[in-house]
Amino acid sequence: MSGALIREQICTMCRDFYKLGWVSGTGGGIAIRDGETIYMAPSGVEKEKIEPADIFELDAEGGVCSRPDGKFKLTACAPLFMAAFKQRNAGAVIHSHSLDVVLATTLVPPGEPLILTRLEMMKGLSGVGYFDSHQLPVIDNTALEHELEDRLSRAIDAFADATAVLVRNHGVYIWGRDASHAKTQAECLDYLCRAKVRMHAAGIDHTAFDRSEPDAPPVATP
Ligand code: ZN
Repeated sequence: MSGALIREQICTMCRDFYKLGWVSGTGGGIAIRDGETIYMAPSGVEKEKIEPADIFELDAEGGVCSRPDGKFKLTACAPLFMAAFKQRNAGAVIHSHSLDVVLATTLVPPGEPLILTRLEMMKGLSGVGYFDSHQLPVIDNTALEHELEDRLSRAIDAFADATAVLVRNHGVYIWGRDASHAKTQAECLDYLCRAKVRMHAAGIDHTAFDRSEPDAPPVATP
């Protein structure tokens, strides 16, 4: 895909994610890699209004190759995006402030992972099955976004099966092999976190009657 199309794609995704509440209030962000070039949305701006010319270009080590004119700053998320590019060879990384993800992080005690099991949408996450007990790291938040770098990097190493790192009371960094894949990962995680939060509020244990090997089909009552 050409650089021009990737720049367009970042703008389109930012508008779509804004409607979902993932990048409102200038928060969140997106970065897409094309070979050795990384395209990254700018910082501190209304993400739903950015234009293709507003996108930064970085090299594979995170050095800025091309910056937009004027008022834009490189996002403080840059080292965090770079961690997923370097450690997981990601093709795209999304940083979302999804409220459902934020609420889900409040259900996880410090030092423990978010555990997902027996929800169909888990199958949308890379390499994850319905009966798995899938663990996602939740790291504690910091005063400044870039200060998350060390703990996010360690969480990526510690959870080899995870394609996301959740940040308590903040959001999530989630990645995929390309922009579409990263988007579907983020959509599935958002759904799963929403399900966890709603079931917790309602006192529902969704695993209570879920059987891995049903021995008989349902029986109609007379
Ligand atoms: Zn953030």
